[in-house]
Amino acid sequence: MPIYEYACRSCGHEFETLVRSGSTPDCPSCKSTELEKKLSVFATASSGPEAAPAAGPCGACGHPGGPGSCALH
Ligand SMILES: [Zn+2]
Repeated sequence: MPIYEYACRSCGHEFETLVRSGSTPDCPSCKSTELEKKLSVFATASSGPEAAPAAGPCGACGHPGGPGSCALH
């Protein structure tokens, strides 16, 4: 479950909260739902090697058939 950082437009309070899909968080200080969503903590840290697709061209030689399709890999 992602953690989002919000800034309240009503009172300026900044806070982090877990957000379930479909639910609307509110300010813990003034209960306003006029919130400005800031960058997710996880979104800024998740751009890495795991973004590579599991199936695709052979990683060693680039053969479009994938690993095992060429003579060497
Ligand atoms: Zn507030």
